[in-house]
Amino acid sequence: MKRLQSSSGMSRTPVIALLFISIFMTHGVLADDYEKKRQALVRVIEADVRDTSLYLDKEELDERVLEALSTVPRHRFVPDKVKDVAYENRALPIGYSQTISQPYIVAIMTDLLKPTRDDRVLEIGTGSGYQAAVMAEITDKVYTMEIVRPLAEQATQRLQQLGYDNIVVRHADGYYGWEEHAPFDLIIVTAASSHVPPPLIAQLKPGGRMIIPVGSPFLVQQLVLVEKAEDGKLSLRQILPVMFVPLTGGHEDCGKDCVD
Ligand code: SAH
Repeated sequence: MKRLQSSSGMSRTPVIALLFISIFMTHGVLADDYEKKRQALVRVIEADVRDTSLYLDKEELDERVLEALSTVPRHRFVPDKVKDVAYENRALPIGYSQTISQPYIVAIMTDLLKPTRDDRVLEIGTGSGYQAAVMAEITDKVYTMEIVRPLAEQATQRLQQLGYDNIVVRHADGYYGWEEHAPFDLIIVTAASSHVPPPLIAQLKPGGRMIIPVGSPFLVQQLVLVEKAEDGKLSLRQILPVMFVPLTGGHEDCGKDCVD
């Protein structure tokens, strides 16, 4: 039987093989490039941690946090337009007037919570899903809530594609927490609130920790670490000034029992 010939007279098989090799190489090289940039970003974060050690009360991040940052492919969490700057240490737009947080901030918020494998974590403000993925590298179960429906849907799909089957995303107002899965060992709020939402305090386990930016939306806030003692008593520690997008939703002002 006559063999099929390409228009150039070359047999089709080598042409297809060449095409595959070139696609493979492009992706391989790109993947390698992202990997290098990611490792460089981790070095930048480590340097920033040393520079801010007086705020953080430590010189180095936990090994597990560093490992998680070295693993999660941040370029898969940002829009195509900003993929080439995915490994710069800054917040980036993700649409709907929202942002993926600066990697240094993701790193210190994760570290301050001291996550361990069996912790049950609640995140408020899924956004791209990046912070949830970093947390899910360390802990067994992450519940994350997002008020903007398309972001919740995109994050669900993205996290599924990346194989994070230990993250559950819900489209809802996170101010009220997620009663069904409470109490939580750790709560991470990635949007700024004028006060610590009382429902989140109620859903924090005794012995648990919460990290949350508290202050005026659109201005500088304070990152606050809330610890709940075994007897339910709360202690608050201000860590450092930060800037987050606001926690939105229809919740009322906090009232007299408020922690702010
Ligand atoms: N953690 C995200 C970035 C958070 S940006 C990441 O890693 O990409 C803050 C997010 O909080 C935004 O997506 C915003 O829509 C969401 N948000 C604001 N108010 C909220 C609320 N009341 N409940 C749940 N999500 C909220």
